[in-house]
Amino acid sequence: MIHKAHGYWIEEAGSQPTYPPLEGERQFDAIVVGGGFTGLWTAFHLKTAEPDLKVALLESHRIGHGPSGRNGGFVDAMWVSFASLGARYGDEAALRLARASERSVTQVGEFCEEHGVDAWYRLSGYLNVSTAPAQDGSWDRNLKAMRAAGIIDGPRELTPEAVQEVCASPAFRGGVHYGAAATVQPARLAFGIRAACEELGVTLFEESPAVRIDDSGSQVRILTPKGRASADRIVLANGPALAGQGSPLRQNVTLASSHMVITEPVPDVIEELGWTGGEAISDCRALLTYFRTTPDGRLALGWGGGRIVAGSRRFGRAELDADVIEGVIKSLHRYFPMLADRQIDYAWGGPIDASATHLPHVVSLPSGRAFAAFGYTGNGVGPSQMVGRSLASLVLDRRDEYRDLPFIEPASALTRVPPEPFRWAGGAMIREAIGRKEEAELTGRSVDPVSAAISRIPALIGFHIGR
Ligand SMILES: Cc1cc2nc3c(=O)[nH]c(=O)nc-3n(C[C@H](O)[C@H](O)[C@H](O)COP(=O)(O)OP(=O)(O)OC[C@H]3O[C@@H](n4cnc5c(N)ncnc54)[C@H](O)[C@@H]3O)c2cc1C
Repeated sequence: MIHKAHGYWIEEAGSQPTYPPLEGERQFDAIVVGGGFTGLWTAFHLKTAEPDLKVALLESHRIGHGPSGRNGGFVDAMWVSFASLGARYGDEAALRLARASERSVTQVGEFCEEHGVDAWYRLSGYLNVSTAPAQDGSWDRNLKAMRAAGIIDGPRELTPEAVQEVCASPAFRGGVHYGAAATVQPARLAFGIRAACEELGVTLFEESPAVRIDDSGSQVRILTPKGRASADRIVLANGPALAGQGSPLRQNVTLASSHMVITEPVPDVIEELGWTGGEAISDCRALLTYFRTTPDGRLALGWGGGRIVAGSRRFGRAELDADVIEGVIKSLHRYFPMLADRQIDYAWGGPIDASATHLPHVVSLPSGRAFAAFGYTGNGVGPSQMVGRSLASLVLDRRDEYRDLPFIEPASALTRVPPEPFRWAGGAMIREAIGRKEEAELTGRSVDPVSAAISRIPALIGFHIGR
């Protein structure tokens, strides 16, 4: 097994062009900081809307090599979070946002089609399954909220027998199927959007971390190790880095991590499971386990049980953690025991930017010249395309449906995460307690009362875990 930070997808996508660092003094109309999905889609939509706009994208390392190029490739709409959206924004606004996120799933496919990007896009639906009695019906709150808002043709509840028809894992119980979901090879998608940006004339810089940003003057000024750039508007699309020192949003973002493995090609196992529809599947744990197949016959499985990251340490154990990978492999064999003697080819991981609501937020910073998006909490692949449209509308000061989506809020309206060191120490303690509780539930043991009590703390302090 090859265990490294960047994982299978980036390797599979093959060698990519490199871009020079920012040097000297440069002037642009708009600068996007961060070359993940959020930054790439924002630059793409800016240039598509205003071809003459001078747009630059600054990436601290390599474009698409962060979480965007190494995630599970689940392209989900936000229906699965509908109850949480309704509670925060009210039903009408929640419906607008969920519908826009559903369109985002198909727009990603349309982009691939129009731009000839072979990102293995497959509109295959998403199945949320219970794998322990404690998870049964965990979707009730969401389905009830959807029905109350008038959505009657939404997700379908599946009996255990119907779940077995989709994927015959011995661990699966009942579930719920959401149709508006796809899977992609995420690195191929990121590199495809980068190529489209380049074709549109976005100026791309790699190895160019923004080390200082000053938005107090009439222009925003950005300093990198080798150069400076100014622009009328900037977009902070540097995701997990927004939790770090110097970030205007560090009070609103906390960092966790997620880790994945992918098997050697096992087409016989996929056939045996009857899992030939390509559905993206996850269990209903708070520390989510998610799994999918690939067109080259592999099975990939990830677990959101990685450590809480102290401060802004996005590398180290957020990316490479042998203990967590052991837990991922345990889940793989628990859910798919027939893989016990099959080879795992790659293991990897990456940081997760979590908001207190577990929902993404788009903010306009007080200067009115800088905008940011963060807090996808492990669900950014589908929504980031829509978020890129909203950020482009904010930069261009255009009034359109994406400018009116309710997740655009002033920074002052955002829910804060606890300050350090409680954020890390408390977060780690709670995460471990949830892990012990869920492991006991999965193995049919009774949950010890201390872990059960600690697991309830997030709800008591207004920090939402799960969907
Ligand atoms: C293992 C794993 C599995 C996941 N699975 C899924 C999934 O299946 N489906 C899903 O929807 N989501 C998933 N996610 C989450 C998903 O990857 C993210 O929500 C999404 O990629 C966020 O994109 P982004 O562009 O906002 O951030 P990122 O991809 O983190 O991009 C931010 C970029 O900014 C750069 N940067 C940071 N600081 C600076 C700076 N100062 N200057 C310049 N550049 C900077 C970084 O290098 C990085 O490239 C997963 C994440 C992980 C780690």
